Amino acid sequence: MKQSKHSIFNDIPDEQKSGVVFKNHQLKKKIIKLLDKKGATTINDISKKFNSSSPKVNKLIQELIDEGLIEDLGKAETDVGRRPHLYGLIGDSMYFLGVDLGRNSIEIGLMDFNENPIHFSRDIEFNLENSEKSLLQLCDIINRFIDQNPGWRNKIVRIGVNLSGRVNHLSGYSHNFFNFTKTPLSSILEEKTGVPCFIENDTRARAFYEFYSHKSKDSGNILYINADYGLGLGVLAQGRLLYGKSGYAGEFGHIPFFDNEIICICGKKGCLETEVSGRALEKQFKDKLKEGQSSSLQHSFVNLENIRMDDIIKAANNDDTLSIELIGVMAEKLGKGVTTLIHLYNPELIIFGGALAKSKDHFFLPLQMTVNKYSLSIVRADTQLELSKGTEGAGVLGACYLAKHKVLNPNPS
Ligand SMILES: [Zn+2]
Repeated sequence: MKQSKHSIFNDIPDEQKSGVVFKNHQLKKKIIKLLDKKGATTINDISKKFNSSSPKVNKLIQELIDEGLIEDLGKAETDVGRRPHLYGLIGDSMYFLGVDLGRNSIEIGLMDFNENPIHFSRDIEFNLENSEKSLLQLCDIINRFIDQNPGWRNKIVRIGVNLSGRVNHLSGYSHNFFNFTKTPLSSILEEKTGVPCFIENDTRARAFYEFYSHKSKDSGNILYINADYGLGLGVLAQGRLLYGKSGYAGEFGHIPFFDNEIICICGKKGCLETEVSGRALEKQFKDKLKEGQSSSLQHSFVNLENIRMDDIIKAANNDDTLSIELIGVMAEKLGKGVTTLIHLYNPELIIFGGALAKSKDHFFLPLQMTVNKYSLSIVRADTQLELSKGTEGAGVLGACYLAKHKVLNPNPS
């Protein structure tokens, strides 16, 4: 991986993973994590926390000040004894860049170490194709975003890029897009931007955002279902993102579920996604119109083939009966799949996001009823079902939070 400009965030080579230099490097990282979690802290408290001498901590604190990562915040307010100095992170010293690739657009956001948004750009025109032209366009868009402000590039310590399909987070290789070269996508992005990069599956990045937003949930067993054009799943198991061996865990949409002879986008037939996804909804809706059923959307489209998932969801929210019926049937089928997940994972919370969740009760009520009908009540009793708040930029925020998580926790998790 490319080296960050802040040495504290670079991995130490295996042969140097012993001795004083390595121990100091690790302790500095722990200090950064502590300040991030607790806020301003004294040298005495840091020494106690890590069972390390005050002079040693003082020396490392000075080095972190010299690196521009932390600052002396003055003396603590206390009535007894000498007032010790407090030290805190300089949030503006480090940035994370999140990039979320859609089929026709890109969203990019910059966040500082204290998780304050710096700048976001939405709906940047982009044509996602498995081609070199599309890859170069992506790199160009990222670089142009960074170059908006001459001070940004040196502060960015990690870039996270979300894309759909199978993504190996360890090798940095994307199997569905930009796979025409043997060089991992993350390495190409690093080369073109000069910043350490990682790639992530878009559903898992959104899931990480949702998990991060539910800090009150402390058992750490949460599922996120991305019911959008496809059907994705992110799993937080005992506080850790579940990746599987190569990062492919969570292919919920492609479990064999129906005996329906419908070929899935993955090439198999009968996957859950063939009947439960925005892609399936578009097809089912048009088939029903061809069978002679009616919808308010018929008045809005000259060519009915141009009707898209978002139009159907919007129509359902405007009382269109056919749209409501199809979304309801789809939600019941999803409910059976979700019941399987509840039985497998015993989660405390399942969050439903993606475009289909925007049809709210038309989607959520039949889903809940099906889960109640089929799940074992003793397991179901542990699980809360929730619709995502649908925060704008959740994918980008997820990429930024993941970038911060990876910087502070360098071991893959
Ligand atoms: Zn499939």
